[in-house]
Amino acid sequence: MVGQYDENLLSDMLPIYYTKFFPQNVFCRWLSCGSSPQPLANRELSFTLADDVYLRYLSISNQKELQTLFQKKCPHKLDIGAVYNTKPSIARHDSVVLARELVFDIDLTDYDEVRTCCQEAKVCQKCWKFMVVACEILDKALKDDFGFQSILWVFSGRRGIHCWVSDYEARTLDSPGRGAVADYLCLIMGGENQSKKVHLGSDNLHTSIRRALNIIDKYFEEILQDQEFFATADGLKGLLKLIPDEALRTQVEKKLEKLPESSLERWKHFVNVYEGYCRENGFAMRKIKYLVEEIKIQYCYPRLDVNVTKGFNHLLKSPFSIHPKTGKVSIVFKPNNARRMKLDEVPTIHSLLDDSAADSAQHQNNMKTSVKNFQEVVFSLEKSEAMRRKTDANISIDF
Ligand SMILES: [Zn+2]
Repeated sequence: MVGQYDENLLSDMLPIYYTKFFPQNVFCRWLSCGSSPQPLANRELSFTLADDVYLRYLSISNQKELQTLFQKKCPHKLDIGAVYNTKPSIARHDSVVLARELVFDIDLTDYDEVRTCCQEAKVCQKCWKFMVVACEILDKALKDDFGFQSILWVFSGRRGIHCWVSDYEARTLDSPGRGAVADYLCLIMGGENQSKKVHLGSDNLHTSIRRALNIIDKYFEEILQDQEFFATADGLKGLLKLIPDEALRTQVEKKLEKLPESSLERWKHFVNVYEGYCRENGFAMRKIKYLVEEIKIQYCYPRLDVNVTKGFNHLLKSPFSIHPKTGKVSIVFKPNNARRMKLDEVPTIHSLLDDSAADSAQHQNNMKTSVKNFQEVVFSLEKSEAMRRKTDANISIDF
């Protein structure tokens, strides 16, 4: 419930949360698997304490040490870093990063130029749909295009989602490899001053882009109606700026200005005008062959923070960490369930600890489901890790 959460109470609540609700066992198993063949102790953890004191290069060897560290330091935020060749330490300048999950960070603030319902730190159920689309597109691409299987989806606690890929091939990917994956998945380019940020060329579209467009199409009209991208004068101007062909732009402008403000209506007429224009002006086709697709992508395709993906030892907030500002748990969710996720049903530390809170029962239940989702990913990762070790062992015997 809004208003019940008080940041000042965090220091009292967190020790109980870490003992009673944080899935320490599964968490250690997940990190161990993701660190293998290095020991768990070579993995960097980092804590943000009350008053923003920041502790880096922490590590644990087992669940008992994690519990002790939690009780001793009471982190307000927990981040996960890379796996080193030695136990991470601030004094060891010669330590080398050996592995790290391939991670993705998508934040709704990067949608501020398109979303109209909220800005900055605010989120609502309407703009959450951008995250639903992002999650579905990325999950599919990671599985179908890269063959990854161990993919963990986590709500960041406020306005975004994180994705952790733990497959061995992903964990051991070097920096250029990570950069290549990020670039492959990144279709929206350019800063604030660039209007048109998507360019698909005129060749046949890559299957990955086709697939992404099919996913966007499932949500596009709904999002269009929620966000009313083109309802205001500014919104309409934004659409017109994306049309590179001047004659077409003028035609569209004339047509759309006369229409009622409904974005869906305006969009349908835009597509009609565009199609008619292409039929009459075959010569113009090359330049604007995928204009409709480019606009859909610009408004709905995932906006990745590529630096997080590219960096080998970029710290990322841990699953089940509490967001200090909202009190919300960074829950693990299933990608096919993202659509049904309600932001106000995400458990908060307060509702978990206070049985008398109005939404306590529901939040406790959702917490259990989230831990179960986490377990499923970890168990399947353990299985594939065991298989990998067996295969490696066989290869070395053969040799
Ligand atoms: Zn919103």
